[in-house]
Amino acid sequence: MTLDPLAWIDEVAEARSRPNLQRSIVTHGAATPGWIERDGRRLVDFCSNDYLGLAGDPRVIAAGVDAARLYGWGAGASPLVSGWRGVHQALAEELAAFEGTEAVAVFPSGYAANLGTIASLVGSGDAVYGDRLNHSCLVQGARLSGASLRVFPHRDHGRLADLLERDRGRFRRTLIATDGVFSMDGYLAPIPELVAIAERFGAMLLVDEAHGTGVFGPEGRGASEALGVAGRVPIRVGTLSKAIGSVGGFVAGSRRLVDHLNNHAPTLVYSTAMPPAAAGAAREALRIIREEPWRRERVQGLGRRLREGLRGIGLPVLESEGPIVPVILGEVDRTMDAAARLLASGMLVAAIRPPTVPRGTARLRISLAASHDERQVDRLIEALKAECPGI
Ligand SMILES: *Cc1c(COP(=O)(O)O)cnc(C)c1O
Repeated sequence: MTLDPLAWIDEVAEARSRPNLQRSIVTHGAATPGWIERDGRRLVDFCSNDYLGLAGDPRVIAAGVDAARLYGWGAGASPLVSGWRGVHQALAEELAAFEGTEAVAVFPSGYAANLGTIASLVGSGDAVYGDRLNHSCLVQGARLSGASLRVFPHRDHGRLADLLERDRGRFRRTLIATDGVFSMDGYLAPIPELVAIAERFGAMLLVDEAHGTGVFGPEGRGASEALGVAGRVPIRVGTLSKAIGSVGGFVAGSRRLVDHLNNHAPTLVYSTAMPPAAAGAAREALRIIREEPWRRERVQGLGRRLREGLRGIGLPVLESEGPIVPVILGEVDRTMDAAARLLASGMLVAAIRPPTVPRGTARLRISLAASHDERQVDRLIEALKAECPGI
């Protein structure tokens, strides 16, 4: 009898299935902005991060197709070898103009951008200070870097300052890293306070604008811009995969930062450049974001309408803003039931469970988009009222 070296995986799966934490990938059919198809049914899609409805925009699709025709489907190599094409260069320049920074480094994904950036800015003997609810890629980036990881309570800049004071002189370099918009509660990080603390302690500051780009701020640069301090956040990470509707990640900052990343970020140096089509699609989406500011105004307005409506029917709503509207139900089973009932009513809403969110805070995470309308939001409020009595 031979021992199966992968048998331990079954034990882990068993432990996961007991508290209803088994997750699986569900296949969906065709998508049109704001809608998704599943098992032949057309559902209102309240699950997507395509906040501006650009992933399925015909102009974005056409730009991707054009770029693929011109440059081929795959990039073929790392940007530093031969993967960087005219369309990548144009995207980098247009992103820098959009962000108002000297330069932008482009990565295969937002996850890769955060991971590689942190790993190339700090190492052993350094420290990363991160919000307790930071996205996985910021945490893993800190681990990969070999720096010490200090975690401060969610959005508690006072505690961060205390930690930095206590650690004064202890580390070679320090990096403060935070999500700009927290993806599971929709809260903005206290970025002006973090900027002041970073400046006071001489720390580097990285803000991950994955859920902010295109959606927050007068020009759509994200939470840092909405809070008036975009120019004082030296390392702003964005993704092309959410509001921009494509795939890829980027870091906006100074020329010297971007040169450093282009030379040292492992997920950029040793990974194939994003497909030219993805870069072409992202360029078109950026153009639309600049020319159609109504998209971000609309999604913000729908967010206000939904929050007001949910409060009106007595559901717990956090004091957050923007397209991410969580309804925290606490128990995993209750949350799964509510999501199942919404699904039966033709609305796809994500049930978010631990370990993605802390234990006891399972929630419906409603994600709005500019492709939704007031009627759909009102129907969702009605359905929550009717389908979740006693919440
Ligand atoms: C989605 C997300 C990422 C990763 O971006 P991808 O482009 O999907 O890899 C990074 N940070 C946060 C906060 C995110 O929500």
